[in-house]
Amino acid sequence: MTEVLLRGRLLTFHDEPMGGEASADAFTYIEDGGLLLRDGTIAAMDEFSALRAGEGRNLEVIDHRPHLIMPGFIDAHIHFPQMQVVGSYAGALLEWLNRYTFVEEQKFSNQGHPERIASAFFDELIRHGTTTAAAYCSVHKASVQAFFAESHRRNTRMVAGKVMMDRNAPPGLLDTAQSGYDDSKALIAEWHGKGRQHYAITPRFAPTSTPEQLEMSGALASEHPDLHIQTHLCENTAEIAFVAELFPWSRDYTHVYEHYGLLGPKTLLGHCIHLTDAEIRAIAESRSVAVFCPTSNLFIGSGLFDLARLRASEPSVRNAIATDIGGGTSYSMLRTLDEGYKILNIQGQRYHPLRSFYQATLGNARALSLEDLIGSLKVGAEADCIVLDAGATPAMRLRMETVETLVEELFLLQTMGDDRSIVEVYVAGRPAKSTL
Ligand SMILES: [Zn+2]
Repeated sequence: MTEVLLRGRLLTFHDEPMGGEASADAFTYIEDGGLLLRDGTIAAMDEFSALRAGEGRNLEVIDHRPHLIMPGFIDAHIHFPQMQVVGSYAGALLEWLNRYTFVEEQKFSNQGHPERIASAFFDELIRHGTTTAAAYCSVHKASVQAFFAESHRRNTRMVAGKVMMDRNAPPGLLDTAQSGYDDSKALIAEWHGKGRQHYAITPRFAPTSTPEQLEMSGALASEHPDLHIQTHLCENTAEIAFVAELFPWSRDYTHVYEHYGLLGPKTLLGHCIHLTDAEIRAIAESRSVAVFCPTSNLFIGSGLFDLARLRASEPSVRNAIATDIGGGTSYSMLRTLDEGYKILNIQGQRYHPLRSFYQATLGNARALSLEDLIGSLKVGAEADCIVLDAGATPAMRLRMETVETLVEELFLLQTMGDDRSIVEVYVAGRPAKSTL
């Protein structure tokens, strides 16, 4: 049995704190808390003194005071093969894809490259406090093998899949409807449910798949209804016009995915910026998830995600937040929350820091339908947690002198914080950052 008692200020969410600190039932905060990690799960969460006394044994205590302990961050949309694309000087989406991304992703057919990038990728996630991600691999089976092998080795809970794309990209990046299906099938058999790994059916987006491939993707989805599906939707206006040309029969972009049976409660739709009311309704009714990728949307100039509009629909649209590396510009969910705040603020939408930290943890776990396992510090949850320091830099320490409340501290963390604010990361109960 491996067991350790963490001491620090504990914060975890039970629900979305729509009213900020007035939503006291939505979160638990313990000033001098104890978090007991046993065999990879959270065995107890309480006042430190109560746990220390109640356990009555020689527990190993790791004292993280005065830092904040929270569930690990969850990134709902990221591209593992794009580590060397970040910061490419392109204009809008289609130029960015053709000029940089589709060139870079071809390197994943080179011997040793997927393994090298997978190792760097997991180092970077851990460094930034991200313990779970929904990731796109490249079209090459080897990229998925490398990704899951690395994740399995590190015992991280990950969602990932082989991108399927059979048109409108360089030949070196294309599969076929049949090979995309066969490769996905083999990878599902090998990796889905192995340790903490989840397979996601991953047609890149409508412009790079033929109708035959989308049909095969739908077949995979109906043969494996428990799998996630991830793709992109309505990121950019030129992309939307291209989809209308490629699928002239479809009412709109969303209808293409709907037609092939790709919407549903485990479907993650990256971006969802330029949507009609009918599309919002279709997404909401299917219980699919709209994934907000703020740094990417600003960097590629795609547009402003309208959270209030999505949430105001009846039923409301489920949502998540993500980095979208390499269109996104930071691996940090703190940087991502900061840019998300700005995008909403410029549209007149206030976004309370308690809501943003909820979103990066339990909110994203719910979006991935994994809230029973991750995203909180509740007893029985997997022990993926992070230790945050709001005074990680001289400028932050100076600003912290005037911070009086938890909410102010959280807002400072998201406004000025990055990987330097992540003091430690526990993956299934084991320290993962200090051992990098
Ligand atoms: Zn993306």
